Amino acid sequence: MDIIPSNFIEQAVINDIKEKNLTKIITRFPPEPNGYLHIGHCKALCIDFLTAQKFGGITNLRFDDTNPAKEDEEYVNSIKEDISWLGFKWANIFYASDYYEFLYECAIDLIKQGKAYVCDLSADEVNATRGSLTEAGIESPYRNRSIEENLDLFARMRAGEFKDGERTLRAKIDMANPNINMRDPIMYRVLHTSHYRQGNKWCIYPMYDFAHPLSDAKEGITHSLCSLEFEDHRPLYNWFIENCRLIKPPYPRQIEFARLNIEGTVLSKRYLQELVKGGYVDGWDDPRMPTLSAFRRKGYPAEAIKEFCNRIGVAKSNSLVQPHILEACARDYLNANATRVMAVLKPIKVVLTNYPEDKEEVFYISNNPTIENSPKHEVIFSKELFIENEDFMEVPEGKFHRLKLGGVVRLMGAYIIRCDEIIKNDDGSIKQLNCSVVYDAQEQGIKAKGTIHWLSCKHAIKCKTRKFFNLLKEGETYQKGMLDKIINPNSMMEFDSYIEPFALTEDKAMQFVRMGYYIKDKNSTADVPIFNETVSLKDSK
Ligand code: ATP
Ligand code: MG
Repeated sequence: MDIIPSNFIEQAVINDIKEKNLTKIITRFPPEPNGYLHIGHCKALCIDFLTAQKFGGITNLRFDDTNPAKEDEEYVNSIKEDISWLGFKWANIFYASDYYEFLYECAIDLIKQGKAYVCDLSADEVNATRGSLTEAGIESPYRNRSIEENLDLFARMRAGEFKDGERTLRAKIDMANPNINMRDPIMYRVLHTSHYRQGNKWCIYPMYDFAHPLSDAKEGITHSLCSLEFEDHRPLYNWFIENCRLIKPPYPRQIEFARLNIEGTVLSKRYLQELVKGGYVDGWDDPRMPTLSAFRRKGYPAEAIKEFCNRIGVAKSNSLVQPHILEACARDYLNANATRVMAVLKPIKVVLTNYPEDKEEVFYISNNPTIENSPKHEVIFSKELFIENEDFMEVPEGKFHRLKLGGVVRLMGAYIIRCDEIIKNDDGSIKQLNCSVVYDAQEQGIKAKGTIHWLSCKHAIKCKTRKFFNLLKEGETYQKGMLDKIINPNSMMEFDSYIEPFALTEDKAMQFVRMGYYIKDKNSTADVPIFNETVSLKDSK
């Protein structure tokens, strides 16, 4: 089979297949269940799953759950849901916490080789003696303990004899290594915290740098694909795999790719946590969040998000992606697929003075004019209508081709009307527009330059529509604990709007003609349906 690589990772896989005689490619997606997945994770998901797929291989979902204090079953479930929604199918679900016993054995093996030791320095002391980019670190006074003493102390760490932070197990590598990660990194710390899956079985927990490579190796992962910030950790990744005798070749290979960064969007779970815990948003799936569940709730199709990851590609160096690329992917997909309905977001009332009182007519609008022979649906027309506030101007400016006093406009799929009179409330605001149907427009040679959408007052359904804006004030960047100051108080706007009844039958994002793409929100009730804006019709730039 001749596979043409489409990026540097696929090229590396092709080389490895030849060099190592690999028969099956296995990748993994390794989220820590300490929050919901965000759009950045989708990039990693696409790379992990699509690389394996391309080579006929498989992908495991592995929960990297080695931080008992932050992890929870809720996150495990949301992560599974989001991955399934995107349409990716994992071969197996594994948990790093299921490997604790194996990892413990690996640690013992390293101690027995004189390659790990129990250290009594505190976390602060370890940090202070680690050195810098220009200076070597200082060896721990506990570095040369005997193997017997280390085995005994490590067993007692596990048995719960020590308090949190009192002792650690460290790899004995090289305190003068130019790569700081190699300066006797911590493998285990004492933590008397119950784990969401292991309960109180353990009071020592493995560190990511130790657990991750060995978990990869245990599962037979051939390619461990991760974001660029792990590049400096790769020598340590390889050190654990090569030095632990419980691991046999072929060894997994770590390859890094650029993280996804979107301008104006903070993609960090710590930030998202703070928003949720602080009540700044309505949960992890609040439509203003950059999480996958929020994009789903906002009506983004999974296909559009995957297409976005495809368009931005896989690169070796970090860059900043513009948010309009993601929006363009949503528009392209929705333009081709979304059902069209009429909705009046900010209504103004029109009374057709020459239209019979109780008459009703049925007109039809296409469900999707981009699809050949697309079905149509009925909209009912009557004497009193809602039109969009913005489609009328009392004092028209420039080339305004919509409705103005004395002017004509076409009502989409129906008649041409003329505005004859403006009726005002006591406060000067417009109460209604008295208009007339121009029945003989053709004979008179009257043409309308503009076409606007409308709803029959009697038949329209009252609803709320919501538009979303950045969560942070313009120009602000996230800093921990500063949300009160930098949060944008106007990140959501809600309007009293109307929709045609047909819109209630659709669960996916729809096009509200001329207005944007919208989807019914999960908090809709029978009395008050709520619609979230997915994306505007056109790029505002
Ligand atoms: P955060 O920094 O937001 O807390 P994380 O990196 O801690 O995210 P993990 O659950 O550890 O999240 O990540 C699982 C996988 O997703 C990792 O392989 C990580 O490299 C990848 N990943 C996370 N964020 C991004 C991103 N913005 N772009 C690409 N990959 C990402
Ligand atoms: Mg992480």
